[in-house]
Amino acid sequence: MQMKKIVLFSLAFLLSFKQLPATPFVKEEYPIVILGGGVAALTAAVQVSQAGFQPLIITGPSPGGIIVQSHSIQNWPGEIDISGSDLADKLQKQAKNCGAIFLHGKVIDADVSQQPFVFTVQSNTDPSKTQIIKARTCFVGLGAVPKLLEVPGEKENLFSKIFTCAPCDGMQFKNKTVAIIGGGDSALTEAHYLSNLAQKVYLIVRKDQFRTIQPKNRDAILARPNIEVIYNTTVSEFQKNGQDLTMTLQTPKGADQLTVQGAFLAIGSLPNTDIFKGKLELDREGFIVLKDQQETSVPRIYAAGDVSDKVFKQAMTAAGDATKAVLQAQKHFGNVMLTKAEQPKSVELTELSSLAELRSLVASSPKPVVVYFYSKSCSPCRAFSPTYEIWATQFQDQATFVKALDSNAYDVFKAYNINGVPAVLVLDSKGKPIFSENGSRIAKLPDFLENKTAQAN
Ligand code: NDP
Repeated sequence: MQMKKIVLFSLAFLLSFKQLPATPFVKEEYPIVILGGGVAALTAAVQVSQAGFQPLIITGPSPGGIIVQSHSIQNWPGEIDISGSDLADKLQKQAKNCGAIFLHGKVIDADVSQQPFVFTVQSNTDPSKTQIIKARTCFVGLGAVPKLLEVPGEKENLFSKIFTCAPCDGMQFKNKTVAIIGGGDSALTEAHYLSNLAQKVYLIVRKDQFRTIQPKNRDAILARPNIEVIYNTTVSEFQKNGQDLTMTLQTPKGADQLTVQGAFLAIGSLPNTDIFKGKLELDREGFIVLKDQQETSVPRIYAAGDVSDKVFKQAMTAAGDATKAVLQAQKHFGNVMLTKAEQPKSVELTELSSLAELRSLVASSPKPVVVYFYSKSCSPCRAFSPTYEIWATQFQDQATFVKALDSNAYDVFKAYNINGVPAVLVLDSKGKPIFSENGSRIAKLPDFLENKTAQAN
């Protein structure tokens, strides 16, 4: 694909935004607060709305959750094949249509020792700003992050050659050679899945045995002719090698190399439960322990998705469990139907389809045109998009705001030499670039527009 050269900037850039207005339409108390921005949380928001209440959803720093990294989902009801980012977009749209209020922030503290529960939320864009949210019921859908090996070459090749979910990304390795790193049930499950597709599957296990709760299952999987186990071995480096990936292995006989087309990490995951340590019952690995269906050890707090499920880890199961959680929780909402608050109207942003469209827009616009360059699978872009929408509303008198998606308008990226996302470009009425920044430097845009307006006046 053409976009390979585009760099994705890190989420850290968001911390430099200071110009954001507060979120005035967020009230202080809700019947239920939903923590998380992935499939479980978004499904819960829709269900809360079905029950007649306006949900508040605190998305965390990565709206959409881990599903946005999946290229192809083929087991979501009603969809033959959908990308994780498209699915997350659809769910967000559905939740917004249902009236869900989105607060783009990170919960940094939770007091669940009293009623109502009290959550301290730190702004995604200005960490010096916090907001208190109270709720009598809470849904936790904070997800988990796959553990990484933290070895050289891993970050650079993550999600292009190295993956963390075989059912999400395995399809591209039909008849190819892959390696799985890990010696637990996840590694075995991934091996089972990939052995039906790939020509050869290597399992790299650091001990001389698997850590499994199902020895019979292990034996059946390892008997498959295209699976080969390399025991007592760790990976110390990954290197992209043309279309392939070369791994440096540390074996009992010394260093060795193995070249494959893709690698899958299955070395466990880390649930995002730090704020609940000592407050909710967690298991040894930090996953939330469920007591009554989806209810946690604290009554009125429910959980679903990867934060409490380390076995199935599927979008479908997360959605189903989130629905069960809200159906249970709604007995606590009370009888009073809350009037849904009006959300501020945001500006409709044109999605460019070509360079010709941009040129004609520039020619017909009396104001400068601001173009936001993004990619669907880019987490920093997802985190930045709500900020761009706020700027588009805030500065609608000064400029015309549009968006350019890599897969739709690549000629616009090429014409202005954009090789990293998120990026922002401002064109004057003659089509000349007068501002072009990417990564953390995007934060200069509001100052630039304000100065330009001041000069014009
Ligand atoms: P586990 O923690 O059970 O296993 C992780 C594996 O990765 C272990 O073999 C571990 O090695 C290895 N590992 C950890 N860190 C490294 C590293 N830095 N380098 C190399 N190897 C490493 O995680 P799973 O995700 O496999 O399973 C989590 C839980 O979910 C378990 O309770 C499991 O039983 C359950 N599960 C059940 C399934 C089922 O079908 N019933 C399917 C999937 C998961 P070591 O053994 O040396 O520590």
